[in-house]
Amino acid sequence: MAGIYIHIPFCKQACHYCNFHFSTSLKQKDILLEAIHKELKVRKEELAGQTVETVYWGGGTPSLLSAAEISEMWDVITKNYTLKDDLELTLEANPDDLTPAYLNALIKTPINRFSIGIQSFFDEDLAFMNRAHNASHAYTCIQAAQDAGFDNLTIDLIYGTPTTSHERWKANLNKAFELSIPHISCYALTVEPKTALAHFVKTGKAANIDDDHTAEQFEILLSEMERNGYEQYEISNFCLPNKYAKHNSNYWTGKHYLGIGPAAHSFNGRTRRWNIANNAQYINALKNDTTYWETEVLTAENQFNEYIMTALRTKWGVSARHLEGWGGNTRTWFEKEAMIFVRQGLMTKRGEVYTLTAKGKIVSDSIIADLFLD
Ligand code: SF4
Repeated sequence: MAGIYIHIPFCKQACHYCNFHFSTSLKQKDILLEAIHKELKVRKEELAGQTVETVYWGGGTPSLLSAAEISEMWDVITKNYTLKDDLELTLEANPDDLTPAYLNALIKTPINRFSIGIQSFFDEDLAFMNRAHNASHAYTCIQAAQDAGFDNLTIDLIYGTPTTSHERWKANLNKAFELSIPHISCYALTVEPKTALAHFVKTGKAANIDDDHTAEQFEILLSEMERNGYEQYEISNFCLPNKYAKHNSNYWTGKHYLGIGPAAHSFNGRTRRWNIANNAQYINALKNDTTYWETEVLTAENQFNEYIMTALRTKWGVSARHLEGWGGNTRTWFEKEAMIFVRQGLMTKRGEVYTLTAKGKIVSDSIIADLFLD
């Protein structure tokens, strides 16, 4: 089984915290979609013999595509790839795009899941982030999607912003619970280099991230999710029973995926590949059949570190038996190091599987770094 990720690199406006690849000019949209169609066709052999079970349109803002543009791309996929019957087809969408008219058009496409960038249900937070939508859009788009027949929804929320008090963070979560959203991803705000937010922090126009404030909101998140019946199956991802995101779960369990579009990443089990993060250069390269990507063959050490980094963030944890695949004394070394965290109450060991405790999840980055092979 494999997945396809398609990067749509356009946004209406730049969110202050965002360092993804996108352009706010839509002038090249048509020729970029042609280039994406071509990339889908020329790379089909990379998934030869594999069945595609998920397609994820991410970005950028894929909800800037019309229903007709999505259907055309879908035609290219169906003609070139072997598809599973029960597919998960996710479109990332911004709340202000999900109008009843657009939703009624999308219901005629194969899209069966939305990932909606809500981020907050409060105007002050949204203004701080420079989101294109307001609190009213955040609320009504979910109801509109559900009314149009889309029940398989996931939303993103952001915590740790200087404008988000603990009470407001709880209220944000409660709004999501009231709306019966089956899957919720929650991310701590980070200040990424070369973003507007980094500039504002540097020049004193915005407060820097308060790590204690963020850690307290992470603890609120864990307790509120548990109280409302959501399972934390990955550090940032929560769902009602069995409503796991198939596409993202496949990333975390090492399945293969093809990344199409500028800045998209691919993984085939041994090699990582990333496309150029420049729309014009991507379009020209596809037109002229020249190279538009770089690759890295993962060493055994890279593969070990990636396994630790992804598996330890999930409820499925790190299997000590699986580590025997790396030979030598890798398993013994890992178990000796992991037991230090078990004794500190930061990890648990059940049989041969190691997972993070709630306390361990708060400091997951440093635990994971300590368990990397140098
Ligand atoms: S809509 Fe998403 S991709 Fe676009 S700028 Fe905002 S966070 Fe970044």
